[in-house]
Amino acid sequence: YSATASAAAPASVVGKYLGKPKADGKYTVTLVPGDGIGPEISQAVQDIHAAAGVPIDWEPVDVTPSLVNGITTIPKPAVSSIYKNTVALKGPLATPIGKGHQSLNLTLRRTFGLFANVRPCRSIEGYETPYKDVDTVLIRENTEGEYSGIEHVIIPGVVQSIKLITKKASTRVIEYAFEYAKSNNRPKVLVVHKASIMKMSDGLFVQTAREVAQKYPDIELGTELLDNTCLKLASNPELFSDVVMVMPNLYGDILSDLSSGLIGGLGLTPSGNMGEKVAIFEAVHGSAPDIAGKGLANPTALLLSSCMMLRHMGLGDYAEKIQNAVLKTIASGPENRTRDLKGTASTQHFTEAVIKNL
Ligand code: NAD
Repeated sequence: YSATASAAAPASVVGKYLGKPKADGKYTVTLVPGDGIGPEISQAVQDIHAAAGVPIDWEPVDVTPSLVNGITTIPKPAVSSIYKNTVALKGPLATPIGKGHQSLNLTLRRTFGLFANVRPCRSIEGYETPYKDVDTVLIRENTEGEYSGIEHVIIPGVVQSIKLITKKASTRVIEYAFEYAKSNNRPKVLVVHKASIMKMSDGLFVQTAREVAQKYPDIELGTELLDNTCLKLASNPELFSDVVMVMPNLYGDILSDLSSGLIGGLGLTPSGNMGEKVAIFEAVHGSAPDIAGKGLANPTALLLSSCMMLRHMGLGDYAEKIQNAVLKTIASGPENRTRDLKGTASTQHFTEAVIKNL
């Protein structure tokens, strides 16, 4: 399961991990436990890290937002903690639908300039799905597109929502994708788009990719319409094993859930939000209110996100140890798997089984 191994941010674009260990050799990492199943899976991660001897002191913060002059704002102590530690692990945050403050996830991404969302997705050995050799890497533009939050009523019954694409944000995320391809031996960057319809906005994204590609003569640039990519991912995902996909925000959000479905669901897929100064790691899934507080949540996605984080911090040996234990536990049978993976284990039982396998 090496896809997560490649989460380290390419220095040329994103800057190195800026944190340092304290005098006692331990690192401080900001922890946002999150909503719904967030506290349960965050606890599992903390227990497993402690058992693995990972030299991390967690700094839990509260990100409950307030509206300051109409703008959703994260509490200052949380912002300072993340800037100080330069790395955070985040549980899912629930977003109110249709009213209230803006999505806190979007606010976090904007506050810290987290421009690239890296979502690797790889078949889990020992857990069978109809798809055997999935090994995709999807990089999602994380700050604009349809998620710019610019919406207004024109007249009652008519609403306009603005998709924003800028050359600056497109260049950053596409450069990141090329750097990622280079440092992870993937020979091709594939831009996924709908420039056939959105000629100007997606057109700018594709045009930017052509310009960025000039700087990377050893890496092939491909472009593909989103609908074609969906078809191919659902019928022949192995076609994407040597590719880094990069795409505007909304497409990446949707395609990454589709990819999760190929390997066994949202309980399994990790992600990293990469910025110039800060990186925040989180599962692809949300707060799963339907199973919250019931001991049914699968902590694997957040655990694998924590492994991406450890590699980013240069603590790859611990990442390897935890990841191997997680995979061994999943492969050991349904009694050690959570319900989303057709198993019978509670979150607590799974956590204890992983600890035994460390
Ligand atoms: P969801 O990802 O929370 O849940 C979708 C389905 O997958 C549910 O049936 C859920 O039980 C299951 N699931 C998800 N994670 C699981 C896990 N670890 N173990 C077992 N089953 C799991 O999506 P949703 O229900 O559409 O969203 C719920 C809330 O989460 C919303 O408020 C949404 O805005 C928010 N959300 C947050 C993030 C984030 O914080 N990055 C991402 C997506 C959604």
